[in-house]
Amino acid sequence: MGEQLTLVNDQPGRMGEQLTLVNNQPPGKRNAHLKTKEKIGNGTVLVTDGDLRYIEFECLTEYGDMLAHCMSTRSGGFSTGECSSLNLGFNRNDSRDNVLRNFQLLCDSAAFDANSLVLTNQVHGNIVRNVDKSDIGKGFCRESDLTGVDGLMTQAKGVTMVTFHADCIPVFLFEPGIKAAALLHSGWRGTLKSIVKQALEQMAQLPGFHADRLIAVMGPSIGSCCFEVGEDVYSLFNAKHQNAAFYEAIQDGKWRIDLHGIIKSEMIEKGLREENVHNSGICTKCRNDLFFSYRGDNGKTGSLAAFMQLKQTAVRSSI
Ligand SMILES: [Zn+2]
Repeated sequence: MGEQLTLVNDQPGRMGEQLTLVNNQPPGKRNAHLKTKEKIGNGTVLVTDGDLRYIEFECLTEYGDMLAHCMSTRSGGFSTGECSSLNLGFNRNDSRDNVLRNFQLLCDSAAFDANSLVLTNQVHGNIVRNVDKSDIGKGFCRESDLTGVDGLMTQAKGVTMVTFHADCIPVFLFEPGIKAAALLHSGWRGTLKSIVKQALEQMAQLPGFHADRLIAVMGPSIGSCCFEVGEDVYSLFNAKHQNAAFYEAIQDGKWRIDLHGIIKSEMIEKGLREENVHNSGICTKCRNDLFFSYRGDNGKTGSLAAFMQLKQTAVRSSI
């Protein structure tokens, strides 16, 4: 608390400018709050730290000695208007300074080093990049060559992978046996392009990988309750996934699609055990009070972010 974080801002047009973030919470303010935890979905815990709120998943917290993770909410940040208030997207209708301050706030509370972040630059594709320490800071405090990348994976400790979401499904993958992790942005387009299968195929190349040990979580995202599409999108999915269980016809040529069900089926196909595939069951549009939702806010919204990092010190006791 009270410490300063100095970032070198390497954004085009602002080259070389030194940006100093000051944690301007009154000293000790957040420390004065006790963090509280409340279960809000399947295996999903809402952490409240003052006004700040974020999500953790019990099945990953179980590996807390080797893995750190969280997902943001929209609550407790500095942003205003449509980005109110914990916007973490630099490409939203928000100032860069607000976003940086929001990152620092969340990193402070969730115990991530803001100097360890690696951000995706997403295009609703299926490219997954293996990142290591040499990628730290990309997209955050220096320019990134990780463009067009919707998924990150790593076996490097101390590298915090970050993906962005506002209805699109965050997918956390963790293979505890070989300590490998991947974090994906799987919206409907990325789901149609099977980004999960892509990531699992790349992870399967890692020596010692066992799909049947892998823990998978689909975090808060638009549910089949709210994901309505027209005949065109339905046809694209139905051509690839001919399973009636994934689709519900509603009126006027509209369909609801169960993206989570499709992703889960691809995970099972790739050898994951059904009991290791977790879905928070929380719909960002239904819970628009707590999460940014592209559909719930008619496109004028901020970005949530998912975070995952293999910890530097990983000593797991079997006792
Ligand atoms: Zn919903």
